[in-house]
Amino acid sequence: MILYDFRCTQGHDFESFVDEHTSADPVCPDCGSSGARVLASPLVTGSCGPGPAQAELPQTWLAADRGDRETIDHWRAQAQRRERLEERYPELAGDRRPVLAHEGVFEQRPLRAGEDVAQALREAQDLRREQAERDMFDELND
Ligand SMILES: [Zn+2]
Repeated sequence: MILYDFRCTQGHDFESFVDEHTSADPVCPDCGSSGARVLASPLVTGSCGPGPAQAELPQTWLAADRGDRETIDHWRAQAQRRERLEERYPELAGDRRPVLAHEGVFEQRPLRAGEDVAQALREAQDLRREQAERDMFDELND
C-alpha cells in the first residue's frame, strides 16, 4: 500500500492509500468526485507539497543516501516536515507498524514489525557504515 496525493474534479486535494499505481482512482472524501493522482515532484515544488509519505521514505532515503549532501539535507527536511504534519494529522501517516528496535544498529533505520529482520539488519548496517565513512570524510576536510 502506498499513500498518494490526489485531486478531485472539484479541486479538493486529498491523500489515499492504493495498492499500486495501476489501481482505480479513489473518490474524493469531501464531494465524492473521482480523484486523479497528483504526481509528486518534491524537488521541484519545494515547500508547497505535504512531503513524501512515511511509506515512501525508506526507498527514497536509501537513494538519497548515495547522493550528495544537499540531496540528503533536502530529504531530511522533507521527512521532518512530514513528521510535523503527521503529528497534527495522524491520518496522513503511512507506515504504522510498531517499531521493534530503534537503538544501536537500528538507530537510523528502525526495525518494524513484519519486516525481514536479516534484510533490515543489512540495510541498517549499510547506513551505519556509510554514516561512519561520511563522518571520517568530514573530519579529514575540517
Ligand atoms: Zn472533491
